[in-house]
Amino acid sequence: MEILYKSTRNGSKPIPASQAVLKGLADDGGLFVPERIPALDRTLEEYAGMSYQETAYEIMKLYLTDYTEEELKDCIAKAYDSKFDTKKIAPLREADGAWYLELFHGATIAFKDMALSILPHLMTTAARKNQIGNEIVILTATSGDTGKAALAGFADVEGTRIVVFYPKNGVSPIQEKQMVTQKGSNTFVAGIHGNFDDAQTGVKKIFADEGLKNRLDAHGFQFSSANSINIGRLVPQIVYYVYAYATLLKEEKIKSGEQINVVVPTGNFGNILAAYYAKHMGLPIDRLICASNENKVLYDFFQSGTYDRNREFVLTSSPSMDILISSNLERLIYQIAGADGDKNAALMAALAKEGVYTIEEAMRQELKDFYGGYASMQETGERIRTMYEKTGYVLDPHTAVASVVYETYRKETGDHKKTVIASTASPFKFTRSVMESIRTSCEDMDDFALADELSRISGIAVPGAVEEIRTAPVLHDHICEADEMAEMVCGFLGIEG
Ligand SMILES: *Cc1c(COP(=O)(O)O)cnc(C)c1O
Repeated sequence: MEILYKSTRNGSKPIPASQAVLKGLADDGGLFVPERIPALDRTLEEYAGMSYQETAYEIMKLYLTDYTEEELKDCIAKAYDSKFDTKKIAPLREADGAWYLELFHGATIAFKDMALSILPHLMTTAARKNQIGNEIVILTATSGDTGKAALAGFADVEGTRIVVFYPKNGVSPIQEKQMVTQKGSNTFVAGIHGNFDDAQTGVKKIFADEGLKNRLDAHGFQFSSANSINIGRLVPQIVYYVYAYATLLKEEKIKSGEQINVVVPTGNFGNILAAYYAKHMGLPIDRLICASNENKVLYDFFQSGTYDRNREFVLTSSPSMDILISSNLERLIYQIAGADGDKNAALMAALAKEGVYTIEEAMRQELKDFYGGYASMQETGERIRTMYEKTGYVLDPHTAVASVVYETYRKETGDHKKTVIASTASPFKFTRSVMESIRTSCEDMDDFALADELSRISGIAVPGAVEEIRTAPVLHDHICEADEMAEMVCGFLGIEG
């Protein structure tokens, strides 16, 4: 059955999935949501017999209904291939009473790869389906992880170009090296003098520039966005929750239909929203445990029903969760408002204007599936150490936040259901803070020496993503001011600014 996508703010008419993927954001500023959440159409036992790629097809076909079987299977085959260092794509690892769903086996060793390795193919297919002759130019501002994952996903994908801006002095040395060594003739990376907000504002300005849009069009280009509110990133993330459940069933760790809990280290609320969709498709998930770091806006929201971004922004050891506006939460708010776009739009307007909104009691009742928790930096570091000492397994700081919150949840509720914890990054991506948690002194070692040491103590080979940048040549050395970003883009595309 066909599913169309409408805006969470009611302001636009429903469109097919491929058009929602191309647009990213609705014209009224809302996010695209499916008109209804489809139900799983296979038995749990059937999923248990499938590969990751087969599961991906079975789930994605329920949402992306205007893609043909051949198109979807082709996108899936191109995305989940040898870029991943395991055939399982998303393996489960048991440690200390929970299953860690490792979502970091792709090209950039963080979970963003799960969606960003398929988005470029969903997008180019969508362009073809909608007779768009223009080349798609992806424009991204990044605070570190998304930029590299998007670069890796779009590099050398025909019909696309990708431009990434990052704050020159605002990312880690490893993150910068990952980006500036990116291969692919369709890639462009530039550092800007300014912080992440300046980069983000610059990108938004370019998107809003009608004159530039027309000049681009005249030269056969059009902009698009790869950020996490694109429905083409959300749908592929539902797959691994079904796959995780099916793996537990196949390995006889659970009985068919047995309820499990899911814990997700959360920033922009995309990953945990995918788990919520999986639950509402009929996957036997009981609680959705939302783990925050010290930027605990979401914890406070689940406690009080008030979302309040007016607070100090804390730089933590889990930077990919340092977020005060969780964009994807809007999709949940819309859902618990009874799919009432006007009600949602009013709350989002309050958020934009005052930085705060409160939901009504009836909506709070709809949040009973969720449990919010948070972990301090100290607890996170201690968890990395105790997990290592107890089991030999090394967690990255984001996953460790989830692990702390899970412990708190178990103590508080006495709920001992089998639990899957989303493991969102390899410890090798955050080597220094991981090693500082396990050992006391690391100051005299550079990041690569630390990676070798981590490899030695964990018994895990240094991932290719780290190995490869050790000696890789710098291919991008552009630096500009925030107000020169549009010129840089035009220069790269070979058109007049
Ligand atoms: C992006 C990211 C998160 C947060 O995921 P959301 O979908 O934004 O909630 C958590 N951990 C890591 C390592 C990430 O890169």
